[in-house]
Amino acid sequence: MLTADQLLDELLNRARVLTATETVATEAALGRVLADARISAITVPPLDNSAMDGYAVRAAECHTDQPLLVSQRIAAGHMGESLQIASAARIFTGAPIPQGADAVVMQEHCIVEGNTIRLQSPVKPGANIRRAGEDIMAGAEILPSGTRIGAAHMGLAASVGLASLPVYRRLKVASFSTGDELVQPGKALQPGQIYNSNRYTLAGLVQTLGCVWIDLGAVPDTLNDTVAALQRAATQADVIITSGGVSVGEEDHVKAAVARLGTIDLWKVAMKPGKPVAFGRIGEADFIGLPGNPVSAFATFSLFARPFLLKRMGATQLRPTVYRVRAASEWLKSGERREFLRGRTQIADDGELEVQLYPNQSSGVLTSTVWANGFVDLEIGQTVHIGDMVKFIPFNELL
Ligand code: AMP
Ligand code: MG
Repeated sequence: MLTADQLLDELLNRARVLTATETVATEAALGRVLADARISAITVPPLDNSAMDGYAVRAAECHTDQPLLVSQRIAAGHMGESLQIASAARIFTGAPIPQGADAVVMQEHCIVEGNTIRLQSPVKPGANIRRAGEDIMAGAEILPSGTRIGAAHMGLAASVGLASLPVYRRLKVASFSTGDELVQPGKALQPGQIYNSNRYTLAGLVQTLGCVWIDLGAVPDTLNDTVAALQRAATQADVIITSGGVSVGEEDHVKAAVARLGTIDLWKVAMKPGKPVAFGRIGEADFIGLPGNPVSAFATFSLFARPFLLKRMGATQLRPTVYRVRAASEWLKSGERREFLRGRTQIADDGELEVQLYPNQSSGVLTSTVWANGFVDLEIGQTVHIGDMVKFIPFNELL
């Protein structure tokens, strides 16, 4: 038996970072992994500029009893002239501060009288000025290599003028489910059959990570079918992920099939849900075998396959942020395995964040994964009383 942490280390040690990279337009880079750090060639903002609609002035010239002549008008995108002595420049948000001015007075704090303004209060030098470089200095690294690009990163890259970004190529992940009992939604169930849900869960998980999903459907529980599916997968994908058939029962052929084509390690993991997890290689393709129980497949993908794939994709942030949250349910069965219970957070009456547990924690109950918004992470033997602080991993850290 491995602990969950040991299994993750084993997997990450085996993850080879992609080498192939490509350049994509910045607007098309969502979900990609940056293959090289980005340095800004410019200072942002390039010039001191106004944070407000108002009047650019010299603070020392501002007196509430002395009106100032409005000597020019500067809109965003236009350069003004040097500020004339004892005058103010009408200025708008984002417009460059004219030479000589050292403050901007909000228009709400001025009384306009014809071509002059009167100030209602003294003005501090520097007021309402956004300084050149307060965001980014030329030469600064704005995005390190290995960054997963989201909306904020795309905007930041554009703000320094980057029209394209170097990224790792997309990782190709093939998946198939195993089991004679599986039927694809859209067909009627015969006695003894169940719908194949793992195919869909894996489709979502793989694509959420930004990988190309190669769908190999469901495979019957025979050695030959499993070998054939793995062979197909290995020619198309960087990583093969399967669900089910990975235990050591007579109907479990995945281990033998991978061993026939390549190498495999099968680990029992001291965690619930999701005991057996396998890793292997078939040619250049990696193989990860997840358990068949739907909640186990979801949990082991999120906690193990996800960081493996992220490292493979070139990402550097592999582990989720874990929070500490107050328990609103109790959990008194002290287990011999680490448990990842499905829980949902809410704000309690006293304003603190608390987490409730889904009442049925069976590894077949998929409803729990939709009801919940994260895992409560319990150490081996840990019990929970209402009010205890527990570790909580939000699903949005994993998806
Ligand atoms: P296995 O790991 O193959 O022994 O499967 C464990 C349990 O998960 C069994 O109850 C299976 O019927 C169920 N199961 C396996 N694969 C799937 C799947 N793709 N969709 C839904 N349930 C599954
Ligand atoms: Mg099975």
